[in-house]
Amino acid sequence: MSEHCLFCKIVRKEIPAKIVHEDDDCVVFHDIHPAAPVHLLMIPKQHILSLQTVKPEDAAWLGRMMTLAPGLALANGCIPGPEGGFRLLANSGRDGGQEVDHLHFHIIGGKRPWQGRTAPNA
Ligand code: AMP
Ligand code: ZN
Repeated sequence: MSEHCLFCKIVRKEIPAKIVHEDDDCVVFHDIHPAAPVHLLMIPKQHILSLQTVKPEDAAWLGRMMTLAPGLALANGCIPGPEGGFRLLANSGRDGGQEVDHLHFHIIGGKRPWQGRTAPNA
């Protein structure tokens, strides 16, 4: 945990978030500025800076998080099957467009064209 980290504060419930899933590994909540009809953020409970600092011993919890993404996408409005789907995105470092320095995966989907802010490669 990092005292001043925005996403650690969400994990500790010190600031509000629209949480859609929580388990021992992670918390999943709605992005405050959605770039698409469905825009969730999936974060590990432990304070990991980014994918750049992930180590081989992180493979188990990281794998469990990845396997959750499809079900969470569907449960929160993404369209099933080849005509639907979702984007899973992790910006890493400033050159990667990362703004919050706590590892997070964007789960982005819903009917196109997407409105609002442009997601990378949308
Ligand atoms: P990134 O640019 O990949 O670091 O993404 C950070 C994301 O966090 C952005 O999409 C923001 O809209 C989102 N965000 C920032 N503050 C909050 C918050 N308090 N609750 C939910 N999402 C947030
Ligand atoms: Zn943190």
